[in-house]
Amino acid sequence: MAQQETDQRIGEGVLATDQDGFVVDTADAEARETAHRERGTSRPITVVGNPVLHKECRTVTEFDGALATLIDDMFASQRTAEGVGLAANQIGVDAKVFVYDCQDDEGVRHVGAVCNPVLAELPPELRHLDDSNEGCLSVPTAYAALARPDYAEVRGQDAHGNDIKVRGTGYFARCLQHETDHLYGYLYIDRLSKRDRKDALKQMAEGTPRYETVPNA
Ligand SMILES: [Zn+2]
Repeated sequence: MAQQETDQRIGEGVLATDQDGFVVDTADAEARETAHRERGTSRPITVVGNPVLHKECRTVTEFDGALATLIDDMFASQRTAEGVGLAANQIGVDAKVFVYDCQDDEGVRHVGAVCNPVLAELPPELRHLDDSNEGCLSVPTAYAALARPDYAEVRGQDAHGNDIKVRGTGYFARCLQHETDHLYGYLYIDRLSKRDRKDALKQMAEGTPRYETVPNA
């Protein structure tokens, strides 16, 4: 498929796709991220124990101004909390959408938003586990090693409802998997051993987040 021209306003445009049909989310990354977060309002982050984080979110069906505003607010919140990815339920919104601002294994920055993400099943030859450390804004100050494939592909829709595919390597692959998990009600600590999960929660209890969180009831 031929490369498409990017058009429309910065941050609101339809991303071009590469020859394999994946979005080119590296183009104008800085400008797009800045435009989103400057329009948006930063919101406090929900933490483990908040029910919105522990159930599957609703499918996005309206690709309207409210969704665009939500995405802007998510970029603003992600920046405030110094995150590399953020799911809507992490600011308390029950909707299947995540944003990311994350580097891949070559240090290239990817910026985008995905609605209704579905992770592709990888053939065995593409499935290489990487056991790097992982953390989550909703489990503040905690980190744990977690084995995940070092390559990921996600299908979903963009903010306009167009079908998109996103792929990533290295830490960005981890991010795509982590954020998709969020929208199905799973935190990375749910994938840890009992002992590692307990340790992560202990780290969280002993630490102080550097951003505002939503107190649990
Ligand atoms: Zn997270």
